[in-house]
Amino acid sequence: MAKQVMLKFTDVARDMPEKRPPNLRRTDFDEIYAEYADRKAAEQSSRCSQCGVPYCQTHCPLHNNIPDWLRLTAEGRLEEAYEISQATNTFPEICGRICPQDRLCEGNCVIEQSGHGTVTIGSIEKYITDTAWEKGWVKPAAPREERQESVGIIGAGPGGLAAADMLRRTGVQVTIYDRYDRAGGLLTYGIPGFKLEKDVVERRNAQLVDGGVTFELNCDVGRDISFGAIRGKHDAVIIATGVYKTREIEAPGVGGFGVERAIDFLTASNRKSFGDTVEEFENGRLNAAGKKVVVIGGGDTAMDCVRTSIRQGAESVKCLYRRDRANMPGSQREVQNAEEEGVIFEWLSAPKGFVGDPVTGVMVQKMRLGAPDVTGRQAPEVIEGADYVEDADLVIMALGFEPEDLPVLWDEPDLPVNRWGTIKADYVTGATALEGVYAVGDIVRGASLVVWAIKDGRDCAEAILNDFNGVQRIAAE
Ligand code: FAD
Ligand code: SF4
Ligand code: SF4
Repeated sequence: MAKQVMLKFTDVARDMPEKRPPNLRRTDFDEIYAEYADRKAAEQSSRCSQCGVPYCQTHCPLHNNIPDWLRLTAEGRLEEAYEISQATNTFPEICGRICPQDRLCEGNCVIEQSGHGTVTIGSIEKYITDTAWEKGWVKPAAPREERQESVGIIGAGPGGLAAADMLRRTGVQVTIYDRYDRAGGLLTYGIPGFKLEKDVVERRNAQLVDGGVTFELNCDVGRDISFGAIRGKHDAVIIATGVYKTREIEAPGVGGFGVERAIDFLTASNRKSFGDTVEEFENGRLNAAGKKVVVIGGGDTAMDCVRTSIRQGAESVKCLYRRDRANMPGSQREVQNAEEEGVIFEWLSAPKGFVGDPVTGVMVQKMRLGAPDVTGRQAPEVIEGADYVEDADLVIMALGFEPEDLPVLWDEPDLPVNRWGTIKADYVTGATALEGVYAVGDIVRGASLVVWAIKDGRDCAEAILNDFNGVQRIAAE
C-alpha cells in the first residue's frame, strides 16, 4: 500500500521559516524570514489534510489550487507543484511573501480552525516559486505566433503587469506606460524591502521585457501623453493606475516641515535602497535617523512606516491609532513584527494638531470606543481633558489613499467614476462604459491588496482576449 504522506498535522507542529532576530533585522532592509530548507517545506506541506472542500482555496482571491501543490511539494515533485501554482497566479512568490495570509488562505485553513495551527501556505508558495526561479523553470513569454492586436496598459503595478503577462503569452502586442522610472508600482516604491526584496520584483520586470513587453517609463499619462493618444494607438486600453492621493486631516500644523506623507517617506526610502540620490532624504526631511518619530494610522502602510523608521536609525518610534489593537485594520502579524523591533503603540490616541515648524510635537487626544456605528464598528470618542503633547521631530501621516481625479487630470469627462473617484468597471471583466477601455486593481477597488490586483489583471486580459477572438461573454445571472 502507498505510504500516506499527508494529514500529518497531529504529528508535525506548525513551523514558519526562521525569523531573523530583531536586533539584526533592525539594521537592514532585507526580508525577515529565511527560506524553508527542502525537507522542512515538504514536512510542513504534509500537514495538509487535503480537504474535499478546501476553504483555503475558497478564500484565496485567485482560487489557487492549494491542496494539490501542497501534496506535490510533500512528495518532492516540485516542478509539478510550480506548474500548478503558476497556472492561477502570475506572481506566486510575491503573494507568498506579502499576502495577509492570516485574513485569506491561512486564516481559513480547517487545521487552524481545529486548533492545530494553520498550514503555512504562503511560505510554501514562496518556496515553490523561488525554487522554480533557481532551477530555471520560470520562463518568459514565447508566443507561438504574433498577433496584430495591441493593448496599452497605463500603470506598471501588479494589476497592469499581470494583465501584460497574460496578453503577451498569447502573442498580443503590449505597451505599458508608467510615470515612474522603474516598473512595479507599489511593489517597487511602496512596500519596503524587509517585506519584499526588490530583486524579486526586478526579475519579474526583466522577464516581461524578455518576453517582448514594451515599457514606456517616465511617461505620465495626462502630462507627457494624452489618454486620447493612447486610445488612438491601441485596440484596447487598461487603466491600472492605483490610488495615490493621500487622505489628509485638517488640523493646525499640517503642511509644516516634518509633518510628512507616508507615500513620500516610503518612496524616498525605497529609492535609497536602489542607490538613488533623493534630495528630501539627504536634507533630512524624509529621513528618520536620530529622530523621535510618530506615525499616525493603524493600517499596513503605517506598519511599513514604523518599521522603516526603525531601520533608518530613529531614536524612538511610536504609532498612534485612534482605536484599540483588536480594531486596527493592519495585519496582526505585522504589529507583532513591529513590536519585536522596538515600536511602541499608543492605542486610542488621535492627533489634534502639530506643534512647531519644523515640527516638535503632536497634540494627542485620548479616545475611548463608543457605540457601534452603522457598519457595526465601535466609533472612537474623545475623552475630554486628557490631551497631551507627544514629542516628535518627524510625523508621518498614514491615513490611507484615495484616487486622483482622472477625468479632470486626463481631460476625459466621459471616463465613468463613482462618487469616491474610483473607476466604474465591470467586476469580472474590468470593462468600462468607454469602448475598448478597461480598468483593474486599486483604481477600481480603492486601496486593496496585491493579490486582488493580480486577479483583476488576469480576468481583464482574458476578457480582452475573448473580445479579440469574438467570444461572447455569458453574463452571470
Ligand atoms: P499600483 O501598484 O499602485 O501601481 C500603479 C502604477 O500606475 C504605478 O506604478 C504608478 O506610477 C502608475 N501610474 C499612476 N498614474 C499614472 C499616470 N497618470 N501615468 C502613468 N502611470 C501612472 N498589499 C498587499 O497585498 N500586501 C502588502 O503587504 C501591502 N503593503 C502595502 C504597503 C504600502 C505602503 C502600500 C501603499 C500598499 C500596500 N499594499 C499591500 C497594497 C498594494 O500595494 C496595492 O493594492 C497594489 O499595489 C495595487 O496594484 P495596482 O496595480 O492597482 O496599482
Ligand atoms: Fe494565500 Fe495569497 Fe497565495 Fe492565495 S495568493 S494562496 S491568499 S498567499
Ligand atoms: Fe489543506 Fe488547510 Fe487547505 Fe484543508 S484548508 S486543504 S488542511 S491547507
